[in-house]
Amino acid sequence: MSSPGYLPLQGQTALVTGASSGIGAAVALALGAAGASVGVNFRSHPNEARAVVNRIREQGGRAVALRADVSLEAEVQVMFAAMEDTFGRLDVLVANSGIQQDASFADMSLAQWQRVLDVNLTGQFLCAREAVRRFLAQPPSQLSRARGKIICMSSVHELIPWAGHVNYAASKGGVMLMMRSLAQEVACHSIRVNGIAPGAIRTPINRSAWSTEEAHERLVRLIPYGRVGEPEDVGKAAVWLASDDSDYVVGTTLFVDGGMTLYPAFKDNG
Ligand code: NAD
Repeated sequence: MSSPGYLPLQGQTALVTGASSGIGAAVALALGAAGASVGVNFRSHPNEARAVVNRIREQGGRAVALRADVSLEAEVQVMFAAMEDTFGRLDVLVANSGIQQDASFADMSLAQWQRVLDVNLTGQFLCAREAVRRFLAQPPSQLSRARGKIICMSSVHELIPWAGHVNYAASKGGVMLMMRSLAQEVACHSIRVNGIAPGAIRTPINRSAWSTEEAHERLVRLIPYGRVGEPEDVGKAAVWLASDDSDYVVGTTLFVDGGMTLYPAFKDNG
């Protein structure tokens, strides 16, 4: 058991993409509370990003807001350079930004398909590539056994097919094998790459799935543990995966889903 006051990420630096809202904001706050200096990436909501930065500072931590569209190579490179200018090095990347643009398959436009792949998959590629380059270029950490840690925010839909959301499910399936292949490639450099697959977490991305009583009831039927997840549930998992407490965990997806991937419809003999 860890001792009181133990800060598993003390002195380390972490960049979280899509951190102005939802899961990303909770992850940024949790990493900050665990002692990390945090880059709070946002694309279009500077005030919300600044609010997250201020909350981390109020907890006694260090944080900076960094604008970038993760699907654009040049903006990603500028963001990583700004992170290094501000904090000197990078220890943890949480590639969290993601979007949904839903349509039935026959009605899905190429633009809807492309944008979701660009943000959810290419965005993670661009950020993870930049992180790996920096992990390899900077001196090894004095504070962590790993040279660097990457956490890819996936989804239960890396596993569960999702009709009406084929672009999203394809992007998360891609994230899963990108994460595992990258983990296989860079583990020899002491870089740990893992994923988190949230189930239904109460955030803006899925507001329609929990904001009315009827929708909430329908959603909870899919969750054996009987409650919708909170962004903080994912924040805690991210702290563990970013810290040396999970030092021997490499190339794994941690499902934070209240059992959603246990096929609850089969509970009573299917
Ligand atoms: P959210 O909408 O609050 O967060 C998504 C974030 O990504 C936002 O801050 C948004 O500004 C940012 N973003 C979007 N496009 C971007 C771009 N081009 N560049 C940079 N940032 C961009 O929703 P959330 O639920 O917090 O989602 C966070 C991640 O968790 C996503 O990858 C999502 O797929 C995943 N996820 C969420 C759930 C859930 O139930 N909420 C479940 C599984 C997976």
